[in-house]
Amino acid sequence: MPKNKDISPSPIKEDQCLDLALRPQTFKEYVGQENIKNNIQIIIDASKKRKEPCIEHLLFYGGSGLGKTTLSYLVAKEMGVGVRTIAGPSIKKSGDLAAILTNLREGDVLFIDELHRINRVCEEIIYPAMEEFMLNLIIGKGPMARTMNLKVPRFTLIGATTRLALLSSPLRSRFGATFRLDSYNEEEIKAIIKRSSSLLGIKIEKDAISSIASRSRFNPRVANRLLKRVRDFSEVEGKKKITKEDACSALSFLDVDKMGLESGDRKILEVLLKKFNGGPAGLQSLAIASAEEEETIIEIYEPYLIQIGFIKRTPRGRVITEKAKTYLRNGRS
Ligand code: ADP
Repeated sequence: MPKNKDISPSPIKEDQCLDLALRPQTFKEYVGQENIKNNIQIIIDASKKRKEPCIEHLLFYGGSGLGKTTLSYLVAKEMGVGVRTIAGPSIKKSGDLAAILTNLREGDVLFIDELHRINRVCEEIIYPAMEEFMLNLIIGKGPMARTMNLKVPRFTLIGATTRLALLSSPLRSRFGATFRLDSYNEEEIKAIIKRSSSLLGIKIEKDAISSIASRSRFNPRVANRLLKRVRDFSEVEGKKKITKEDACSALSFLDVDKMGLESGDRKILEVLLKKFNGGPAGLQSLAIASAEEEETIIEIYEPYLIQIGFIKRTPRGRVITEKAKTYLRNGRS
């Protein structure tokens, strides 16, 4: 997690209420990702026409905060069924999974977040459940062990992951459709901030929305979080309406610069430039030299630095680009 938790796209504790309050309730309210929405709508309509209780299993992948959970809830809503949510790492034993699956209602959506962190034993249990809505459980140990086959209600599994490559191919292949959520463009992020402002009753000028959008790493969760932080600042200062100046000074105070970078990002770039002479640098070496965890570099810093063209990944390691060198030379703005 970056030192500045405001720009981390991973959910933090304070996000829970904000996420709930701002979560779009219809496909129309869900900004962008048009292609995915259209495809899902077709899948749902076709299955409704065939009068099937559930749709094919769906896999969503993409960075944290890009809207995978929200989309899964919208799918369930559109299908008119209930949704049960569970995080991959919290399913520890096959019994945990069996309890969840047998308690589903016919047609329900089971949403498994962080699917890449589910353990292998549970993964094996999931295969027959996904294919035939059956659980093959082994009861007992050693020579006394026996298998028990249990039918579970028909359900739609929606898996979400930030690391598609970590999913085993047997698991991946059992999903009927896989969708990659891309990051948003500036207009879409502005639309999200505008919608959130009106839901939260925040009065904000157009230019202020643009300033927040340009520093949000084009990530809805980060955008909403920055909006809330800017609101806190302007409330403390007794402002009635947030102006561009208010937004910029609050964001500078939070150490988020015009590119949406904070000190952790700049450290990675400086380490690459100064300790590795611009690279290439392997992930492990970069992590040690910058005193960050490899996971944090992969999941938090690197995606955005690559997206804005500051870092390139080559077969020999990470390399800093000319664009990033210019940014570092000119200092933060
Ligand atoms: P993920 O599951 O990918 O980490 P979430 O679905 O939890 O992301 O989204 C984080 C927050 O960002 C949600 O609460 C929602 O308010 C907002 N959000 C995400 N995607 C969109 C979108 N396309 N339109 C509007 N708001 C969005």
